Amino acid sequence: MPRKNRRLREPDRRRSTPMERHLVDGPDGRYQVRRITASGAEKTYRCPGCDHVIRPGTPHVVAWPDDGGGDDRRHWHTGCWNARDRRRPGHYR
Ligand SMILES: [Zn+2]
Repeated sequence: MPRKNRRLREPDRRRSTPMERHLVDGPDGRYQVRRITASGAEKTYRCPGCDHVIRPGTPHVVAWPDDGGGDDRRHWHTGCWNARDRRRPGHYR
């Protein structure tokens, strides 16, 4: 088999992954969620889940309404974001 796909050269591979996003259906609509790595967290944010700050260097989550165009981004602790999903009304037990 000839080597026709040259997958060994992927110079931008590391630069294309940090903006990993996915869609999550929550109790109040669909959200886009992005995971922020420790090196990507450069500012202090306030988490709407626990009302505490997220310090620079803390891996966390950014979420915004899928139909909101990204203007309404919120930074959450990863655990708070996950807990928010579990708190969904009618979703106990
Ligand atoms: Zn929090």
